[in-house]
Amino acid sequence: MCGILGIWGRDQVAAELMLGLATLQHRGQDAAGAITFDGSFHVKIGRGLVSEVFADKHQERLRGPWGLGHVRYATMGSTDVEDAQPVHVSYPYGLAMVHNGNVTNFDEVRESLYAEHHRLVSTSNDAALILYTFAAELEKCDLRSLSILDLFGCVEATQRAIAGAYSAVCLIAGRGLLAFADPHGIRPLVLGRRETEAGPEYAFASETTCLDFLGFEAVEEVGPGCAIFIDGQGEIHRHQGVRGRSAFCVFEFIYFAREDSVLRGRVVAEERERMGRALASPVAAAGTPPDVIIDVPASGYFFAVGLASACDAPFRRGLAKNHHIGRSFIQPTDEERRRSVRLKLNPIRGVVDGLRVAVVDDSIVRGVTSRRLVSLLRAAGAREVVMVSAAPPVRYPCPYGIDMSTRDEIIAARQSPDAVRRLIGADGLVYQPLESLQALYRDVGCCDACFSGEYPTGLDAEALTRIEREKDRSGRAG
Ligand code: AMP
Repeated sequence: MCGILGIWGRDQVAAELMLGLATLQHRGQDAAGAITFDGSFHVKIGRGLVSEVFADKHQERLRGPWGLGHVRYATMGSTDVEDAQPVHVSYPYGLAMVHNGNVTNFDEVRESLYAEHHRLVSTSNDAALILYTFAAELEKCDLRSLSILDLFGCVEATQRAIAGAYSAVCLIAGRGLLAFADPHGIRPLVLGRRETEAGPEYAFASETTCLDFLGFEAVEEVGPGCAIFIDGQGEIHRHQGVRGRSAFCVFEFIYFAREDSVLRGRVVAEERERMGRALASPVAAAGTPPDVIIDVPASGYFFAVGLASACDAPFRRGLAKNHHIGRSFIQPTDEERRRSVRLKLNPIRGVVDGLRVAVVDDSIVRGVTSRRLVSLLRAAGAREVVMVSAAPPVRYPCPYGIDMSTRDEIIAARQSPDAVRRLIGADGLVYQPLESLQALYRDVGCCDACFSGEYPTGLDAEALTRIEREKDRSGRAG
């Protein structure tokens, strides 16, 4: 997963790009990059957090009123700066691009780009692949009289060629900013507008939290297959490109997006409370009611509050979190993940001592966090521990950009909930029923393939195995 930002401004844009990227930092901490345009491209890309990559001098150097920014999600292996974004080319137009998602037919597109257009994608960078595909389509147009309809035609051809998840923003030198989404609209992208004395300015961002911070009002989302072009005069042009069924990633609501964001018209925090309330009946069905409900901070908080509001047990903060430790999820080995969970979380004795504790997390993937927490809570005096997952059992890998690892590593991929309960050592284990989650999101139209195995782009078993193998190797993600 990654975070992207594109700004169509009227003055220097670099400082805002950097600040805006910082508000998307939760979507990626591995690398950050920005590109601006003032007649030439100016680029800065580096590994690490936004605050580590950009310094004051980059605000001076990255000149121009239009720009793109990117923060990259760390998946195992994707550590090359070569694979970081933005990417850009100078032919047939000056084009720069950022994207969020993951391409599932990478090799196939790479081969055809080379065979048909002599364009060599030498990195494993999805954004380069999408950009080269778009550029190859542009090359077929008469560039002297290139119309907006031509641009949208190139988007459609790109959408037909590239499979998987992608929300992309493309800066077309001297022409404007073009945003588009895959036919299912799997990844979020929102257009914002703000008024200035010089006229309106626009921004595309992965989440509204970024637009809020920069003072843009969210205007609309770039929905399934949609393309939006802001031309050089600041006029907005919209086009419905290749469209499939809406399959917005439900894991954005569960874990990935920040709680203050509004996605598909819904406030993420409220969604998490709703999912928490829906857990009340499976928790009741699991036996003796808990004495206390605690969250796994920070991602379990809203679910736990929602659950507590729908049952008789009180919510209390029962785990203290060290906020200065990096993500335990992306450590290379289970041992390191266990250690990092230990370093990050510690039970608050008085809250759990002698009680039947329900501990709520957003999801269980490998089960490392839950197993560690159950033993820590017992050591802190909990009489019984019921692990509650606000998500249904994760059973299938995600080929669309969320690091769900491979089926060999996913604890519920081949085991029943009771076997998982035994493995994590809990007295009880409650998952969100898949049907409850689906009922909550029927009207949005969400992708829940990591729980259901129903891939909106129609991946077969062979393609899935190939993606798992590739993932083991490269960890490519946008
Ligand atoms: P695990 O220990 O593998 O079961 O991971 C579950 C924990 O990691 C939960 O506490 C989640 O908050 C977090 N998590 C779940 N999915 C992801 C992901 N794709 N990337 C990073 N963290 C995640």
